[in-house]
Amino acid sequence: SPIPDYLNAVLEKARSNDGGAPAAYIETLANADTSKMAVALAMVDGKVYSAGDDKIEFSIQSISKAFVYALAIEDAGLPRVLEKIGVEPSGDRFNELSLEKGTNRPMNPMINAGAITAHSLVVGPNSTVEERTDRILKALSKLAGRELHVDEEVYEAELKDANRNMAIGYMLKAAGIISCDPRVAVTGYIRQCSINVNVSDLAMMSAVLCNAGVHPVTGERIIPQLSVRQVLSVMTTCGMYDSAGDWVSRVGIPAKSGVAGGIIGTLPGQVGIAAFSPKLDERGNSVRGVDICEQLSLDMGLHMMDVS
Ligand code: GLU
Repeated sequence: SPIPDYLNAVLEKARSNDGGAPAAYIETLANADTSKMAVALAMVDGKVYSAGDDKIEFSIQSISKAFVYALAIEDAGLPRVLEKIGVEPSGDRFNELSLEKGTNRPMNPMINAGAITAHSLVVGPNSTVEERTDRILKALSKLAGRELHVDEEVYEAELKDANRNMAIGYMLKAAGIISCDPRVAVTGYIRQCSINVNVSDLAMMSAVLCNAGVHPVTGERIIPQLSVRQVLSVMTTCGMYDSAGDWVSRVGIPAKSGVAGGIIGTLPGQVGIAAFSPKLDERGNSVRGVDICEQLSLDMGLHMMDVS
């Protein structure tokens, strides 16, 4: 297959893009090897192609938000989720202490306020950190097709300096959005963000969304179709932090990025993309990851607004 050669060429081209810096606020991420870079594609027929440092594991971070939103919908039902979390892009930083005027809901599930709320809706209102983490780990492992684990070092590093997310948790509690102890919600959310993946895992997880919620390899329905639609909609409008509009116009693929340097792109009916490189731009998106996705979109004609 010519695909691996093509993917290697994409990586080499992206390598010249040397800007950005790894996330500074989580010590383990700040010390990441910034020369590492990888890409993977998962087709809706289950084939996976990857290149570069494709065995390297990194924490999923905010990419988990898309999948945990789907779990919240499954466990609490869409009406309750919509009552608690909006679907409007905020244009704010991902860790902004903000709520929607009038409704008091977090603006959307892709910023931390919405993601912590979504986490709190997984399993039940009085669940423990362990119960929610266990549910999320099992679900993400099923999507990836292998057993995933929490990176305890990343978890400890983030928990050590979680004041901002704790503040968001208390804000949500004061506004009546979350009903559990804010420390439980935020601690669980940080464990969720610390789950390790590689690019092939992410591409496969993305391909489940591309395939309307059915796992491309096992054929099992994992996410209900209505949830897939909801998840892809918020990925399109809010997935790339405060550069969602720029991303949609340039790359045109529903996507979600994380501060460890991972990005998923999800083109419905076609292909799940995952890229990894630790250096981030000022909005928190992987510089080379964005470059890789842009190349793929252009070369393969993936922009969802393109009429062929
Ligand atoms: N654990 C990170 C945080 O909440 C996730 C942020 C991200 O990947 O954007 O700050």
